[in-house]
Amino acid sequence: MRLLWVAFLFGVWQCKSPSSPMSPPAKPIEVPVAKLALPYCPVCKMEFGTYPIADTLRYEGKLYGFCSLACRDTFTQRRGM
Ligand SMILES: [Zn+2]
Repeated sequence: MRLLWVAFLFGVWQCKSPSSPMSPPAKPIEVPVAKLALPYCPVCKMEFGTYPIADTLRYEGKLYGFCSLACRDTFTQRRGM
């Protein structure tokens, strides 16, 4: 019986742990610009030397960096992904 109680508590805890609606936007990720197919955001042409990379996406074997999640979404929509 005790094991069930623990499992129940764990389930409740798991339900509350995922990111809340108030969670901040994705942090910039550390990706060497040299690893990217382009040294700039393919959507808005923002250069990554001075601008952080918000997200990356692998497309047709190449790694693309994006200045924002919105740019990444635009990229995927244009390619019907
Ligand atoms: Zn962009």
